[in-house]
Amino acid sequence: MKTAALIVAAGRGTRARQGSADIPKQYRAVGGHAILDLTVRRFSAHPRVDAVVVCICAEDRDLYHRVIDTGAQKLLPAVDGGETRQASVFAGLQALSSFKPNNVLIHDAVRPFVSDQVIDNVILGLENEECVLPAVSVSDTLKQAEDSYLSGAVDRRGLYRAQTPQGFRFATILSAHEAALASGRDDFTDDSSIADWHGVKVRIVEGAERNIKVTTLEDFVIAEAMLMKDAETPNQRKSVRVGSGFDVHAFDEGSEVILCGVSIPHTRKLKGHSDADVGMHALTDALYGALCDGDIGSHFPPSDPQWKGADSSVFLRHAGQCVKERGGTIDHADVTLICQAPKIGPHRDEMRKRLGEILEISEDKISVKATTTERLGFAGREEGIAAMATATISLP
Ligand code: MG
Repeated sequence: MKTAALIVAAGRGTRARQGSADIPKQYRAVGGHAILDLTVRRFSAHPRVDAVVVCICAEDRDLYHRVIDTGAQKLLPAVDGGETRQASVFAGLQALSSFKPNNVLIHDAVRPFVSDQVIDNVILGLENEECVLPAVSVSDTLKQAEDSYLSGAVDRRGLYRAQTPQGFRFATILSAHEAALASGRDDFTDDSSIADWHGVKVRIVEGAERNIKVTTLEDFVIAEAMLMKDAETPNQRKSVRVGSGFDVHAFDEGSEVILCGVSIPHTRKLKGHSDADVGMHALTDALYGALCDGDIGSHFPPSDPQWKGADSSVFLRHAGQCVKERGGTIDHADVTLICQAPKIGPHRDEMRKRLGEILEISEDKISVKATTTERLGFAGREEGIAAMATATISLP
């Protein structure tokens, strides 16, 4: 098993109890669904999450069965939590250990608005890190007070608000929890603090303002409003756009070609001002096309000497960043390489992975295909390589 999600729902938080609705807040409904149900669905619907386990308070077992479809795909039997959040997570980790997941994402039950993008950010981060923490920067000016009078200011640079899911290599966080227990520490309020205490480096990745913790009565009002907005027809709140790109580079004397970020030994190289990565150029143009924002040449003029020999990932990363800056997401990318040789098949998955890293999206959303032209035309005569691409994006 690659990635499991552990949802911590054992808290007895009472802050959101209201009138006769005397139930823990994670079981309260917003928009007709229990918060916990919304949260579980976010993870079980994510293509890169293989299993979901929920830690509950033993007393809430009936409640749990009432609000959760326990036969749902990927959902493992609920685990009884402990006295503290830390103890509940540890119980969940022990329950998961027989499945031997590589990674575990530990998430608060009361953050039902976590997006695929935040989950992707954490999973991608775990490819190179042991521990990944999604966070958002602090925008309010921070003040310090004593007895209700200002006593100083706090520099907000370098300060973040921590969110979940916090991602870990499974073995790392399990041993951090075991060490905490052995040394009598049971007061950690989140898992990145345990990892940090255990000497593990914690990498911060982008969280989202929408990934709120629904805790107070006011939060429930906000959550209702957010769900209502989400329920409006997708066309009213999002525009889905498809851009296309096409590029050609000629062969030159050389011994390797770079295609979609992967260098492949060959009897020639591709000629160009940059590294001539024809596949990446086509995809970059597809993204600019979807944004109606010019093309690769208008952003990176070939007349500018600083782009000579440039790694084309610079161009693709910029196009991906432009989508993000517009508040959009990249939903799908599809690249077709048109050449007689070299063979693309053996490198396809590495190309998808590399493009995913550059665009900071899951490789599940990226397709790379190849075709020959039956020896017809310039590609068939092996004078060069062509590439075409489409990119599908959603903009607010
Ligand atoms: Mg080009």
